[in-house]
Amino acid sequence: MKPLKSLQQLTESFHKLPGVGLKSAERMAQAVLTLPEDDVIAFSDALKHVKSSIHACPTCGLFTEEKVCEICQSSRPFETLVVVSFPKDVFAFERLEDVQFRYHVLGGVLSASKGIQVQDLHLPQLFQRLEKEGFKEIILAMNPTLEGETTAQYLAVLLKKLPIRVTRLGYGLPMGANLDYADAITLSKALSGRTNLKGDE
Ligand SMILES: [Zn+2]
Repeated sequence: MKPLKSLQQLTESFHKLPGVGLKSAERMAQAVLTLPEDDVIAFSDALKHVKSSIHACPTCGLFTEEKVCEICQSSRPFETLVVVSFPKDVFAFERLEDVQFRYHVLGGVLSASKGIQVQDLHLPQLFQRLEKEGFKEIILAMNPTLEGETTAQYLAVLLKKLPIRVTRLGYGLPMGANLDYADAITLSKALSGRTNLKGDE
């Protein structure tokens, strides 16, 4: 029996999502067939809507439905800027209690194997902000992976000339871990154990 083309297309779409293997994607596609028509329409509308209404904040790169994101618009102090690789990492910090951080999302990590280079990261915006916004400390919060470390070290060199304290998350977090999977206690420990990369203060 030939595979049903539309079902195969839907399976392939689900398979593109992280953590969804081919078997799961097939089950999901078949489950869609059993949903009521209204639910399928709502599902398809939600997919389109999320893509058209959410964009990157022009200041920090975080996802937002507004012109500028909620955190950039907030009254949080311009004291500590946490530099992360991906928007999802911001959500990990925001799960902690009473955080008053501002963030900058690089949009990736340097990776020779994936061909991600310096010009692919949101670095010009970062340096514009550092000039304008007067932060006292930058916390480099890339994941503890080889690519995360490479990116943090590259940034540490660039930031060396600026009169700002530069720290890296202490770990607590195991090598290869993902920030967005870290629980609040581990992340709090990593924050309080952060190391000063300039070593002259
Ligand atoms: Zn923002």
